[in-house]
Amino acid sequence: MQFDLLTIFPEFFDGPLAHGVVARARQSGLLNIQLHQLRDFTHDLHRTTDDRPFGGGEGMVMKAEPIWECLQKVTGCAEREQRRQQQPAPGRVILLSAQGRLFRQADAWRLAGYRQIVLICGRYEGVDERVAEHMADEELSIGSYVLSGGELAAAVVLDAVARLIPGVLGHQESNRNESFGGATATPDLPGPPLPGILDCPHYTRPVQFQQWDVPEPLRAGNHAAIRRWRLKEALRKTRRLRPDLLHSAMPAAWQVLLREIEQEAAPAATGFGEDEFEG
Ligand code: SAH
Repeated sequence: MQFDLLTIFPEFFDGPLAHGVVARARQSGLLNIQLHQLRDFTHDLHRTTDDRPFGGGEGMVMKAEPIWECLQKVTGCAEREQRRQQQPAPGRVILLSAQGRLFRQADAWRLAGYRQIVLICGRYEGVDERVAEHMADEELSIGSYVLSGGELAAAVVLDAVARLIPGVLGHQESNRNESFGGATATPDLPGPPLPGILDCPHYTRPVQFQQWDVPEPLRAGNHAAIRRWRLKEALRKTRRLRPDLLHSAMPAAWQVLLREIEQEAAPAATGFGEDEFEG
């Protein structure tokens, strides 16, 4: 899979791309990342990539022309509508933006299906709107807060997508059973893949640390009991930390576990979600 990053700070990515899963994927050739210095696509002495905003006001705005020229180079076609008519489509062009749709795990799975992803990193007050209107296929935000630049957001998107490319992670199943991943139902607790509850808690040695023990079911070696415990604890943690991820369409067996959890919880201590899964 190919990533092209358009930025005025290519060196920003030295760190994020040099470690762990992403670095290994690059070495093995599963991931090809090209950094493009937007200043290389300017034609003035000062290599200007930004300018003052029309209408006045604070700050600077990233110019459309260097982005246009760079896109011509990396996709062969900068204009979205023209690109859409090309077969096969050259790739997906994404503008990182605080105003974008929220990037979620489901987007990471979707983007992992493309051969090429182009990530445009803004700076200053943002990017000339014509980039979003006519060049990018989509605008993505990594959260409801404002960063000083798109590089950090691009690194987040790249990391989340890269680890889903087949062969990148050591154990293929390890990204199906994790948070938001759609853990599949087990034979003893049937149901459709779950669209994204949290992962179950994990423990490693020692069995006892300070006065805190590893939960008994994980140590006993009964695999059906372990699967049930993991699912139940994943639901418990989701209910506590991300109740927004739970919904009434979840499999009946999971609803049963949730009721158990609700009965086990001291009602006064939780304070939310008590009625959410009735009926
Ligand atoms: N004036 C803009 C913020 C610009 S921040 C506004 O108020 O919406 C400068 C750049 O940082 C943006 O162009 C974008 O590329 C990046 N950026 C900031 N916040 C981001 C976020 N939450 N997700 C993705 N990119 C973000």
